[in-house]
Amino acid sequence: MKIHPIGGAGEVTGSCFLVETSGGRFVVDCGMFQGHDESEARNAHFPFSPGDIDAMFLTHAHLDHCGRLPLLHARGFRGWVYATPSTCDLAQFILLDSAKLQEEEFERRLRKGRRAGAPVSRPLYDTQDVVHLLRYFRTQPYETPLKLGSDIEVIFHQSGHILGSAGIEIRENGTSVLFSGDLGNPQRNVVPDPTPAPVCDLVFCESTYGDRLHRSEQESVNELRDAINWAHQAGGNVVIPSFALERTQDILFQLHELRRRGEVPQNPVYVDSPLAINITRVYEHHQEDLDDETRALLKAHDDPFSFPGLTTCSSSEQSRAVNGKDGVIIIAGSGMCNGGRVVHHLKHNLWRADTAVIFVGYQAVGTLGRRIVDGAPTVTIEHEPIAVNARTFTINGFSAHADQAALTGWLASSAPAHIVLNHGETNASAALAELLAAQGRSVEVANPHTVYDTAKLPTRV
Ligand code: ZN
Repeated sequence: MKIHPIGGAGEVTGSCFLVETSGGRFVVDCGMFQGHDESEARNAHFPFSPGDIDAMFLTHAHLDHCGRLPLLHARGFRGWVYATPSTCDLAQFILLDSAKLQEEEFERRLRKGRRAGAPVSRPLYDTQDVVHLLRYFRTQPYETPLKLGSDIEVIFHQSGHILGSAGIEIRENGTSVLFSGDLGNPQRNVVPDPTPAPVCDLVFCESTYGDRLHRSEQESVNELRDAINWAHQAGGNVVIPSFALERTQDILFQLHELRRRGEVPQNPVYVDSPLAINITRVYEHHQEDLDDETRALLKAHDDPFSFPGLTTCSSSEQSRAVNGKDGVIIIAGSGMCNGGRVVHHLKHNLWRADTAVIFVGYQAVGTLGRRIVDGAPTVTIEHEPIAVNARTFTINGFSAHADQAALTGWLASSAPAHIVLNHGETNASAALAELLAAQGRSVEVANPHTVYDTAKLPTRV
């Protein structure tokens, strides 16, 4: 097998591998590049011919792993897209939302471009492209070998990152290569822990947090509890910017538990994100992919993602109706506040000294969320300066990724595989490589210009 890293080598976005075997050419993940000036140009280009690909295997439904699939299809790929049943359902919502955002952005640019007399590039894909692609999705359950021809076998393993997430093992004539996908943080509730890595010859392992250890989840839950209680005593609102997929369900689960234990008041909670509402339904529907504790709650008709006093806002009228309310908790996207309904909630609440803004996810440089976290005294929202008088809380422990200890723990059972570390910034991957090498493992950091050939793996002693 020959593996070409197309994206996600030496970086955390654009995950994609081209896999050449005697039985066909495959793609593992087809993610969007995000957050850099050159992302737009990289997203529009495939360094291979999409029409030559026989099948595609998708690890999970995050946009940096599935976001370019509609473009792959539009450029001529006509093979099946294999993914777990949960991932098939989640990817549908994520890709339709991505197409809608791109169409809206295109309309905005078109208006500006017309006024400036400048050309405007088309979106990567539109809703119709996604609809065409979705007919090619095929569900593939965990731990069930998928046979492709006489030589190729593909197995999806639980990776414990988000609902339906999988590591993917490709076997060809006695040689096996494992792609970790994104690996989960075993401390977390809601989804199961990752299945330990199987023995294999070569493993591509993510290394997002290869250089650090997470704080315990309990500490983060306590911080969430304290922030909510602070706002309650101050008489103000709580605004929680949150990603629609995984983090919102995680926060709802924790709120459910805190309220059940009587550790926070029963203030009204609003989930103001149509995407998050749809995704939460997928979580409730695919109980087989939840961890035992969460599934038991659902079986007992105690929905862990719902509770009395929870209101979901699908329409923009419902969203606007939240303005002017006091003593409420608002969960809205986007997670980094660079768009979405959370922006108008911040506009209405940031200036108030009795508001708590709780950040539960990473805030990238250049986003509104990052400016608030960094302590800007005022921010501009919809062309209006807004004073930041709210108290901000930053909770770092709700990560959906394995930390250094969890990554080395997961890899322990993969011996004697050669390890290639991908999906990480340089420092994170290098620190993990150093630790694994000290443990006697054969390891290197992924190089986007290297072709990894299983026939030429380093000799082991
Ligand atoms: Zn992910």
